[in-house]
Amino acid sequence: MSYCAEVLRSEWLTPLLVRVELGGPGLDGFAMPTDTDAYVNVAIPPTGADYGGRFDPGAVREQRPRELWPVRRRYTVRRWDPATGRLTLDVVVHGDDGVGGPWAATARPGDLLVLEGPGGGYRPDPSADWHLMVGDESALPAIAASLEAVPAAAPVTVRLLCDGPDHEVTLTSPGSLDLLWLHRTGEETDADLLPAAVRELVFPAGRVHAFVHGEADEIRAIRRHLLAERGLRRSDMSCSPYWRRTMTDEAWRQMKKEYVAAMETDVA
Ligand SMILES: Cc1cc2nc3c(=O)[nH]c(=O)nc-3n(C[C@H](O)[C@H](O)[C@H](O)COP(=O)(O)OP(=O)(O)OC[C@H]3O[C@@H](n4cnc5c(N)ncnc54)[C@H](O)[C@@H]3O)c2cc1C
Repeated sequence: MSYCAEVLRSEWLTPLLVRVELGGPGLDGFAMPTDTDAYVNVAIPPTGADYGGRFDPGAVREQRPRELWPVRRRYTVRRWDPATGRLTLDVVVHGDDGVGGPWAATARPGDLLVLEGPGGGYRPDPSADWHLMVGDESALPAIAASLEAVPAAAPVTVRLLCDGPDHEVTLTSPGSLDLLWLHRTGEETDADLLPAAVRELVFPAGRVHAFVHGEADEIRAIRRHLLAERGLRRSDMSCSPYWRRTMTDEAWRQMKKEYVAAMETDVA
């Protein structure tokens, strides 16, 4: 399904994370799955493209030059409120680069974007003995939503990567949280902060259900460790690369399938 949503308001949660609330009659019929990592594919008008109101991405592609085509990105549904018809996205603004980040940074009430979906595939398994959630800012919306869905008192180990203390957000959960924020230093070793934090963990006893998402190479290293060194079953993990360092989403999408296939062969 495709929906043309309107920006209702936006708010900076941290110096690099913008919350955008969408709504309007274009979201009528939006149906949220129970997955806590549910995401939408959004079509964002590029800077300077004035489509004159509600737009159909397919029609725009037929009628306009390529540089004015809407740009496709994926964002997690941080929250969907069926009572008010409000849909919340939390978007990382990683400098002036890209399309999605700058769009969110400058989003104003009345701005329009088309979204398709939602899709998803993970919700904390209530029968797991404990939960592991690992990621960077791009996975924070999914991890925040997932933390709200764990059973009361369930042990949850969370390792999150961000730029510093003022980039942390308050997370709430009925679970019993072991939460640690890791801070980048600007050095090359930053890429190993999350994998190292997972390697250092003393795992609680019992079956874990893991959610590991974020930058491709970091996620791949953690996945390899969880499978090879910790003996997790694939069915007990949701593990996927959301973005890849140095690559735009267009470049990443072109090679993602191949990359994920190679990831599969990391551990027999
Ligand atoms: C299922 C799914 C759910 C996702 N949910 C979210 C979400 O809720 N919030 C969110 O912010 N992102 C989310 N992402 C990631 C987001 O789609 C990508 O980060 C996307 O590339 C951002 O587009 P952009 O136009 O801002 O930057 P692009 O034009 O794609 O990239 C420009 C440059 O910025 C770099 N870059 C891209 N993303 C980041 C980042 N997060 N941090 C630092 N540098 C980056 C790229 O490597 C490239 O060098 C999700 C991805 C998937 C697949």
